[in-house]
Amino acid sequence: MVEFEQKLRGNIAVSVNPLGRKQQVLNHIDHVKSKGTFEGPKKVLIIGASSSYGLATRISLAFGAGADTIGVSYEKGPKSERNLGTAGWYNNIAFKEAAGKEGLIAKNFVQDAFSTETKQEVIDYIKNEFGGKVDLVVYSLASGRRTDPETGETYTSSIKAIGEPVVGPNINMQKEDYYTETLEPATEQEIEDTIKVMGGEDWELWLKALKEADVLTEGVLTTNYSYLGSELNHPYYGHGTLGRAKADCDEKADTINELLADINGKAQIVVATAVTTKASSVIPFFPVYCIGLYKVMSEKGTHETPIMHMDRIYRDMIYGDKPEYDEEGRLRPDSWELDSDTQAQTKALIGELNEENFNTDLTAYALFYKEFSNLSGFMVDGFVEKEVTIDELKAMEY
Ligand code: NAD
Repeated sequence: MVEFEQKLRGNIAVSVNPLGRKQQVLNHIDHVKSKGTFEGPKKVLIIGASSSYGLATRISLAFGAGADTIGVSYEKGPKSERNLGTAGWYNNIAFKEAAGKEGLIAKNFVQDAFSTETKQEVIDYIKNEFGGKVDLVVYSLASGRRTDPETGETYTSSIKAIGEPVVGPNINMQKEDYYTETLEPATEQEIEDTIKVMGGEDWELWLKALKEADVLTEGVLTTNYSYLGSELNHPYYGHGTLGRAKADCDEKADTINELLADINGKAQIVVATAVTTKASSVIPFFPVYCIGLYKVMSEKGTHETPIMHMDRIYRDMIYGDKPEYDEEGRLRPDSWELDSDTQAQTKALIGELNEENFNTDLTAYALFYKEFSNLSGFMVDGFVEKEVTIDELKAMEY
């Protein structure tokens, strides 16, 4: 029997409970179903579909709008009892099983989304087995590396400040420690490389390839998830390397809009709220912002998890009648996070934090830790322990 034990290295989860992940996917499906159905897209391609925002999008559109989905992700399967693979691997399996039960197509491509081969394989599948066209393309990748398909060169992204170093508090969840960290400014090369990985170039390459292959419907929509944040995190996010990459996505949205003009298509930047994900937990200082923000937002009744946020975005905003856009045409579901009173209270709360109180009821540390644990299948509501062998895990198919 496989033992499931939660293990962390700093703020990185290094173990997974596959059965816990299945329960969490089912919990998210229940959330969407509890809201009823909505008129939405019917044939959706999600690039970065296996966890957090991408997975939440997929669950909302499949179980809320009855969409068939193709998910592209980069995950690892089980090798041994000590190496069970990644959470996203099991998310893909759990999603596919649940969608299949409802008669929905759920095709998973577990391979490098940045490569030309993956784009071609997805296009062939759309043409031959998915009805020929997609009406929504969601881009929700978060990656530390990207190999340029043209040159074969591999780029690594950096999470760094620009110009001046940033000094501030951070949290180590493994040690339950609160400490001061210094974030060095990035070099020009690091800025360029981060844009190459997390900017909009690959999003544009996907849309070019899909358009050229004639697999996009008239009026197709493509979304890309951005983050802007507030003055509380601008020094290390918005004004740092990741902020530059997100600005590049804004520019690429304009290019994609031109590309799709003749089929009345639209590229939509969605500025999403701060949530606990594999990617966000390793952004320096960000966990401290989250434990302050979540406390304030929980008290106001506005705190959301990825499934709550994405379901609201698609159900109420994009395919509903409550969209909020900014002057640049970006969708702004992050208005709850950026509410001025929420930000003022968060600022005041973060200002009070120290090693003694960061993990007490003063903050939402317990909630942040639970949400982080949930990502790898631990502390999941409704989870019931069951025995499973490594061979059974290996036999599961995505
Ligand atoms: P995540 O790490 O949970 O998910 C990333 C997804 O990308 C996974 O499905 C992973 O398998 C996939 N992926 C990574 N590299 C890949 C590759 N080479 N080929 C195929 N798939 C690959 O990340 P997330 O936090 O959900 O982030 C998704 C997007 O949302 C990012 O653009 C992020 O900036 C944005 N966003 C996040 C937050 C936040 O607070 N977490 C807030 C606003 C916007």
